[in-house]
This record gives sequence, structure tokens and C-alpha cells, in this order.
Amino acid sequence: AEVVKPYYYSVYLADYDVTAEVTPTERSAIFRFTFPEADSSYILLDAFDKGSMVKIIPSERKVIGYCRNNHGGVPENFHNYFVAVFDKEFTSAHTWNDKNLNLNDTDEEGDHVGAILGFKTTGGEKINVRVSSSFISPVQAMLNLEKETSGKDFDKVCSDAEKEWNSQLGRIKVEGGSDDQIRTFYSCLYRAMLFPRKFYEINEKDEIVHYSPYNGEVLPGYMFTDNGFWDTFRSQFPFLTLMYPELDSHIMEGLANTYRESGWLPEWASPGHRDCMIGSNSASLIADAYLKGIRGYDIETLWQGIMKNTDSVGPVSSVGRLGAKYYNDLGYVPYNAGINENAARTLEYAYADFCISELGEALGKPADEIEKFRNRAMNYKNVFDPGRKLMRGRNLDGTFQSPFSPYKWGDAFTEGNSWHYTWSVFQDTRGLVNLMGGNDYFTSKLDSVFDVPPVFDFSYYGIVIHEIREMQIMNMGNYAHGNQPVQHMIYLYNYAGQPWKTQYHVREVMDKLYNYLPDGYCGDEDNGQTSAWYVFSALGFYPVTPGTDQYVFGSPLFKKATLKFENGKELVINAPANDKKNFYVGEISLNGRELNRNYIKHGELMSGGDLFFKMQGEPVKNRGTEPDSYPFSMSDKK
Ligand code: CA
Repeated sequence: AEVVKPYYYSVYLADYDVTAEVTPTERSAIFRFTFPEADSSYILLDAFDKGSMVKIIPSERKVIGYCRNNHGGVPENFHNYFVAVFDKEFTSAHTWNDKNLNLNDTDEEGDHVGAILGFKTTGGEKINVRVSSSFISPVQAMLNLEKETSGKDFDKVCSDAEKEWNSQLGRIKVEGGSDDQIRTFYSCLYRAMLFPRKFYEINEKDEIVHYSPYNGEVLPGYMFTDNGFWDTFRSQFPFLTLMYPELDSHIMEGLANTYRESGWLPEWASPGHRDCMIGSNSASLIADAYLKGIRGYDIETLWQGIMKNTDSVGPVSSVGRLGAKYYNDLGYVPYNAGINENAARTLEYAYADFCISELGEALGKPADEIEKFRNRAMNYKNVFDPGRKLMRGRNLDGTFQSPFSPYKWGDAFTEGNSWHYTWSVFQDTRGLVNLMGGNDYFTSKLDSVFDVPPVFDFSYYGIVIHEIREMQIMNMGNYAHGNQPVQHMIYLYNYAGQPWKTQYHVREVMDKLYNYLPDGYCGDEDNGQTSAWYVFSALGFYPVTPGTDQYVFGSPLFKKATLKFENGKELVINAPANDKKNFYVGEISLNGRELNRNYIKHGELMSGGDLFFKMQGEPVKNRGTEPDSYPFSMSDKK
């Protein structure tokens, strides 16, 4: 009874014998309701709770109003204004609130209100409702509706939306997999493109404007929202840098606007700054975009925002760097200084500091400044316990947290445990290998994550959070792909002489933990991050270290994939022998020249051409095993 497509949704409501359909534009939608024959057919409009308003204008077959439904972190004047225009006269109109039905009333405002529109319908009669919203004003909502739907009926909007989605999803074409694999790939590609949301609108002069969810003003320029960078810096933003550089440039300008309007770069915008998650990962997004050649935004303002983060604590814990003074003085955020998830903060600040040093170099910032951040990027070493050879909370006096269990989620870490966070040294995997005592120990430690039992300590949360349960039921030891901290881990075998284990595990995760059905994800989707992991992995490479120009090889899923870049170039990835058994990589070549390294560079991808994977059923234990084939690590930087 339900049809779900990117450009169309339909459901048969059996209790009412009504079919409801909806098809979208960017800021609007058309609903179509098919009714049975009745004197009393109704459409009920719910403007949600936490502050709403409806005003029915029968002469214009229109309802306008707003919903304020939000959980804080926005200015006092925050409203989501809406307009709904019907193509049939109302035979009755009423409003309601949580307590009362207000017969023949046209205006209602309160905590939770709505409208009821009555119609006399013939059997199979369709009523169309054009709906739009705006964060700026009711007038702008009407303008958005006119701009996006005027002169178009339901079917036209639907076929336009279908064309648009096909052209977006068509930027990557995969062939030579099972139908299920192709469905899963495009389901992931679709989800990798849903965030961040455009929060800007086009005014009557065709200018780009936005309501600021930070200072409440209507201002010129781009604004995007709904994104947790803790999740998306890992591969969803690198996906945009690769496939959507123009959009990424607009997003960067939106970040600059956020800094101008609030004094802070966002880390979890929804739509204002939300007090949620940790890290200083905006630096990763910005450095990755700039270093990969994306321009057209105010990088100096972004640099200022990044610099401010490095020694400031924000008005909410997600912005700035909670524990910045400790981190800058001691080289880590202490376990016993009243700052939660401190070892995770240390690791993510250190990675951000690497991104800052690279960006600073590209921007020609003073050498001593760059050196300072390059040194701080080594702060991951300060929370490495050389005894347990794991990351561990560290006290003010330099001793490690005790008691300590690598199975304990949260506490010194964020939505993960030491088994997951030990690998959060994106900038210097080689340095981590050295801390552990070399390749053999490092790779066996990686193996251990899969080999230890799926046991856990949930006492920090007091309940078994779903991320823990998802790990437990996967039967992959303590590997917790359902949450983000560990998602790059499988690729790290490439840094220590065992790339075939990356190939094995990456295919296992793609096969076992993803599908296109309602249970197709092994955890929260998280703004497209978990999908972007699949999209990259299915193509055969993954951006382990955003802020560098490298993508680390795994095992491509399809026999053929074609990427169409915005610069007009095409990259064709061929792996003709690929199948369920031939998932090991014997040889890789680019435009006919063999690549003996375990990574490919951004510029090589963007130049297009042919990337060839020779696939086989047995692991190749002499390819990509020598140090000169390893991907980037700061400790190796010449
Ligand atoms: Ca998550």
C-alpha cells in the first residue's frame, strides 16, 4: 500500500479509503489526495507543538501559519512559516488545539494548533494542495511556492523531480553487480546527498538570502544546516568535495556566514548551534575543501573562526573547544578535570590541529604558527597508554585513568570505547604503528577488534544505547560499524603491510551490514556518513584522512563504475573479474600504468581516465606491503 521513491511518495490510508501522495521541489511540495464519494471528506492540518498558528482564508482556498517546533538553540523570533493552497473550495473550515475543536473558526494560535478543511467529494476525486515553507516570512513562503510550483500540476512536478534525481544519482554509474547490490548502492548514494539542508531562500529580487538561525536577522548569502560534523567530516563531506565541489563552495560560504552571525563555526547545526557531540571538526571540512582546490568563499573569515576555536570554550559545549586551556597547556584534556569524553576530545583536537597546519601552510600563514599546530597534532601520543597499547583517559597528574576497561563505552570516549577510539589518529597512523611497536603488533591489534567477544560496559550511559546493541548483534567482535568512530579502521591495514585484510573486511561489511530495505543500516544513518562510507567503499577507495589528497584503496564492489565530475572529466573504474569470491586485489593500474601504492590522489581521480583493479580469489601478500606504498602519515612526511 506504500510507494517510496526519491521524488514521490504514496500511501493508501485504508481506514479512510483515501490515497495520499506527495512530490517535492526544493522548498515546496504538492500533495494529492484521492477521496471516495462523500459529503464529509476532510484534510486535517497539524501545525505541530511548541508554538504554532493557523489562519484559514476560505476565499483564497488557502491556509497560512507557522510552526515553531524546535528544541532550543534558535533566536526568539524563529518560525517555520507555511502556506497551503487548495484547488477546491472548502465546504467547511474549522480549527483545533490540544483541548478544543473550534467549529467554523478560522484563526488559532497556541502551543499546538491545526486546521480542518471539509469537502464534498465524488468517488475518486483528487484534491491537490500546493505547500511551501519559509524561515523568513509568510510572504516569502508564498514566493517560494510561486517560484517552484507555479504553472505545474502534480504530474509535472513529479516528472521534474524524477529527472532531477536521476541526473544527480547519474553522476555515478555502477554496473556488473547483483540487482540488490545496485539497489543498495543507489540507496546509499541518495542518502549521502540529503544533508546538509539548504537553509537559504531566493527573494523577490532573485537574491540569495537566509534567515539567520543565529541572530534572527534576514541576511544576504548562503546558509546550510542540519549537520553533525563529528559524523560527516569522515567521508560525507569528502564525498561532496569529490562529486559536488560547487555545492561545497556554497557550504563553505555558509560556514563563514555562521561565524559572522554567531561568532563561532558550527559543529552541530540544527538549525542553530546545538549542544551535542564533541570535536573541532569544522577545521577538517574547511581544510579538505580548500586543499582540494575548492574556492569561491571567504577563507580568511573561516581561518579566523578556526583560530578562535583553538583557544576558546564556546557558549555551548559543541562549539569552540571544551578543555582548550588544558589541551594547550598539558597536551591533553584530563580525565579528572570535570570534562567528559576527554580522551576523545584530545584525539579529535589533535587531528583538527593537523588540518590547521596543512591549511595554514596553503594560506601562507607564519611558519611558527604552522609549527605550533603541527606539534599539537602529535598530542594523540599523550593519551596512548604504552602498557595496554590503547588510548586511555589521562589524569591531571599524568597517570592514566584507573580502573580502565577498553570495553567501556563513553566516559573518556564518545559513543564508543577504547577499542574504537584507539584508531582516531587519522593524521599519523604510522606514528600509532610506531607507538604500538611495529606492523606486526599493530595489525594483530586491528585483528583483535574483530576477535574479542562483543562484550561491553554501558555504565557511563546507564542504559545499553542502541549503538552498543548494534555492535553486539553484528557478531563481529567489538567492531562497531553502526557508529562513526571506527568506520575508517578497516582501511588501516594498508598502512602496515596487510592490505588484503582491508579488502576482506571491507567486502564483509558491505555484504553483511548494508542493504536497500527498511533495515538496510546497521546504525544511525547520521546525515549520510554511514552511506558515504558505502559509496566510497563500493568504488574501491576511502578518504581516511580528510585534509590530505589521498584516498586509501579497499576492494571495489562492482565490475565497472563511472564517475562524472563537475570539471567534465570521467573516471572509469574497471574490475572485470570482480564477484563474490574474487574480492582480493592483485594489481591496480591508472591509465595503463601500474600503481604500487595503497592510495590514489585527488588530482588523479579528478583528471579522469581508467582505474583498473585486477581481482582474484586469493589474497596477494606481496602487493602494497612495502613502506613506500603506505598512505600518508605525518611521521612519514618528508
Ligand atoms: Ca552515530
